[in-house]
This record gives sequence, structure tokens and C-alpha cells, in this order.
Amino acid sequence: MPKQKTQKPKQPNQPVRRDCSVCTLKGRPRVFTEWHDPNIVIVGQAPGKTEAKEGRPFLGAAGKFGRKFLKAFETATITNSARCYPPEDRKPTAKEMKCCKPALLNVLAGAQEIYLLGRPAFDNLFPKKSFTQYVGSSFREDGKLWHILYHPAAALHNPRLRNRIIEDYKLAGESTEITQAMPIEVPVIRPDDQILKPDAKVIIADTEWDSKGNILVGAMDEEGRFYQEVL
Ligand code: SF4
Repeated sequence: MPKQKTQKPKQPNQPVRRDCSVCTLKGRPRVFTEWHDPNIVIVGQAPGKTEAKEGRPFLGAAGKFGRKFLKAFETATITNSARCYPPEDRKPTAKEMKCCKPALLNVLAGAQEIYLLGRPAFDNLFPKKSFTQYVGSSFREDGKLWHILYHPAAALHNPRLRNRIIEDYKLAGESTEITQAMPIEVPVIRPDDQILKPDAKVIIADTEWDSKGNILVGAMDEEGRFYQEVL
């Protein structure tokens, strides 16, 4: 009789870990998720030069355009398909996004409404669907409302798309089903982590694991000071 493999049952609510050791972006500057309302999440592709320097997503020219025209930026949690800055400001590859996907899925697990900005972010989560067919539209799947939009960088690189993108951003904002922002939940940082002052009010936090099992914590306090630590 063939020997049967015994599989450890998966524990519910256990965060899935990604494996950075097999990712070509290993060791590159990392930008953590910017946590605000966990019910609404904006997903980009990967940090650019400015984001890598500042340690927050969507801060460069494209990010400023997005923050100006897409209302969800006022309340949403903001993250990327790949957390690390690709060399020469290139887009992340499908393989890099796949390596990072467990971290993204952890952020999306509790979200009700998700904005996917750009083809890489869309293809990473919906490989069987066509970005061209869905861009500018919203649909429901897995109990979540998905808004499929151009990345704001497209408005800067292709001026002919600018007005279309502004219009899509406006319409996506109007079709939102969540009218009341939920209180900000900070999932992991505690004063006894000794990363922040005990009385600091954390406005951004994220926890991840590297391939050795170290816990990495990123946080920003209310005065805008950014912290990254390995626990
Ligand atoms: S955090 Fe994501 S992008 Fe960075 S090395 Fe790990 S898997 Fe790759």
C-alpha cells in the first residue's frame, strides 16, 4: 500500500509567508504597506525611486497624480504587488510579483473594496482575465468589489490617456459601496516592541517575515518619522 503523506492542517487566520530567498528583488530597498482603512485597499505594481527613498508607496510624480484624482487615496490602505524597488526603475516581473503575492493576499484578505492600478497588478491577481477588457470597470468577485484602473504613471507617459484616466478615477470614486471609513486598525505594533515611543500613535504599520524567519516591522508615527526594524 503506498505510503500516504500526512499534511499538517492549515491554521485559520495564519498569515501566509512569502519566500524572499527565491526572489530576484531580494536585498533591494523595501517599502511597506501604508495602513489606513483595511476595508479599502489600493494596489500598485512596485515602489519607484522616490518611494524607495521615502519608504512609503505612491509618493513620486505618478503617486502625486493618483493621490490628486483618485479619492480612495484619502482613506485606503496602500500597497504594491512587489514590495521591493526593482533596479533601474523597471516594472516588477510576473515572477517577482508571484514571490511577493502571499504578502499581498494577507493585506487583501479582509478588504471589501480593492483598486488595482495598472496591468501588472491586475494580471498578478487575474491571470485569466484581460486588462484591456476590464480597465475602467468594476466587478464583484470573491465577495469583494474590484475597480480596475490604469496606473497613474500611464497618464504621465501617455498624455492622450490623461483625461480618460481622470474620468475613470472619478467614476471609480463614485461607484464606491463603502461610504463610511472604518477606524484604522494597526495589526501588530505594540509599545513593548520598543520600536516606537510608548505613547506614539502609529499611523502606518506592517509586519513581514524574511526567509530566515526574522520579523520585519515598518511603522510611521504621527509626526511622520519612519521606522523599519528587524525583531
Ligand atoms: S519582499 Fe517581495 S519583492 Fe521583496 S524580495 Fe521579498 S518577495 Fe521579493
